Amino acid sequence: MVNASIKELLDKGEMLPLMEEFYTIQGEGFHTGKAAYFIRIGGCDVGCHWCDVKESWNAKLHPPTNADIIVANAKKYANTVVITGGEPLMWELDYITTALQTNNIKTHIETSGAYKLSGIWDWICLSPKKTKLPLNDIYSQCNELKVIVFNKNDFKFAEEQAAKVSDKCELFLQPEWSNREKMMPLIVDYVMKNPTWKVSLQTHKYLNIP
Ligand code: SF4
Repeated sequence: MVNASIKELLDKGEMLPLMEEFYTIQGEGFHTGKAAYFIRIGGCDVGCHWCDVKESWNAKLHPPTNADIIVANAKKYANTVVITGGEPLMWELDYITTALQTNNIKTHIETSGAYKLSGIWDWICLSPKKTKLPLNDIYSQCNELKVIVFNKNDFKFAEEQAAKVSDKCELFLQPEWSNREKMMPLIVDYVMKNPTWKVSLQTHKYLNIP
């Protein structure tokens, strides 16, 4: 049971249900290869059947953690933070992103966009999911669109989503990990025919790092 004062701090984003935090290399998308401090926040109801972090779904399993402590931890390691989940936008992120930027730390987010955008971001990676589509406002604001390709239908979904983002948005197709051997040849072929898209790989999984 979360008591009333903790609930209030969670509502304000001064506390967040922290699943894990770690310093590693960003493995996917536009910033692949850059060192970053990852903050994984619990809670997600998007329900991707292939989700590789199902342990994140129940926010109650992850301890409410003071955002100032998370910022102090990040500051020891990195000048870039990636806030991920779960679905991080289930939480109010203005407080932690303001604190990070005040400490000269760049703020990146990985989100499905299914919840209202909060926070002040240097980079927004939108990874839309068919099970719970993004809210409209995020399309014009995202810097990167990363569509996970599980089967052939996902190319059509990718184009539908790309039609909604700005011209400056970077477009990535990334194979779903368990299906990568099957989908990779199709993605390679698609990107060669449609070079506005780029391939994103989960390089951290190949490197065996978190
Ligand atoms: Fe998992 Fe992310 Fe899908 Fe949520 S949005 S179910 S965390 S892959």
